[in-house]
Amino acid sequence: MNNLISYPLKDQLPEPGKTIEVAPGVFWLRMPLPFKLDHINLWVIDEGDGWTIVDTGINLPEVRERWQMLLDGQLAGKPVKRLIVTHFHPDHVGLAGWFEETLGLQLWMTLGEWGMARNLKLETKERSSGYLNKFYHATGFDEDLLSIIPERSESYPSRITVPPAGMRRIQDGEVIKMGQHDWKVMIGTGHSPEHACLYCESLNVMISGDQILPRISPNISIWPQEPTADPLSQFLDSLIKFKDLPDDLLVLPSHDYPFHGLHARLDDLAHHHDERLEETWNLCETPVTAYQVLKGLFTRKLDSHQVFFAIGESLAHLHHLEAKGRLKRTQQDNGVYLFSQL
Ligand SMILES: [Zn+2]
Repeated sequence: MNNLISYPLKDQLPEPGKTIEVAPGVFWLRMPLPFKLDHINLWVIDEGDGWTIVDTGINLPEVRERWQMLLDGQLAGKPVKRLIVTHFHPDHVGLAGWFEETLGLQLWMTLGEWGMARNLKLETKERSSGYLNKFYHATGFDEDLLSIIPERSESYPSRITVPPAGMRRIQDGEVIKMGQHDWKVMIGTGHSPEHACLYCESLNVMISGDQILPRISPNISIWPQEPTADPLSQFLDSLIKFKDLPDDLLVLPSHDYPFHGLHARLDDLAHHHDERLEETWNLCETPVTAYQVLKGLFTRKLDSHQVFFAIGESLAHLHHLEAKGRLKRTQQDNGVYLFSQL
């Protein structure tokens, strides 16, 4: 536990269908998630003549009901003017299509995140299975794990409504005026392709999405859609970029509690990955597959779905070491990659 990180609201939690004001005109709400990580934080910003919603929650009847409670309760009396979504993961973009359909809301999102959400929602098992099989086979996965791929490829589409066919693109550095305040879009990368954070200097707050979380390390993974990527380099570069922000900022993350101690948290995250990179490198003394590295890095028992996240994270560390010239990656005749120290 880093004692430079503090949680000014740790004794409070928004009740279902209610919010807590965390800064003037900035409201915090929580929605349930059907995972071990059982909640997501969402935000509503008072613009004076209407509301902006930031992130939606996953597509579940219970989440839609809670939104309806809010729309009929605390948010009644003023229109919702826009929806901003930080990134394409289902707990963030899940109800963008529902909001468009029910409230006519325009979606504000980066092009990269919107494109991923549309692509994954509209992808079919038939079209993607060959590609996914090839990708996971190359990691050294056995037949048992490969047999889960069709079921896994249904999980993302089942958790989101169809994202709107068009959107209002937001870009790095852009300033969005909401009520009296300017909010600057800051793009982070590594966790997702073009993740939008929103920084308000005058309120000294930042909505950080999943880019910066207080206690868990954001998932940094290689995904089949970009099999040769090095997202860890992108993530570590993003950490440096966010260091330019004031340290006394109140950070509003998508999971856990709002917190103070941005710079300490950025240092923690960089340190965590440094340690993980060393562990990864040490596992490659003799040529090994990514799946063998996974088993060395994740010693606790993983269920079959967790294995898919873990292979993505293992690959992210392997690819970063390869990009730094510390490992080499060679493909065998059977299509499986081996990693070894240089
Ligand atoms: Zn995410």
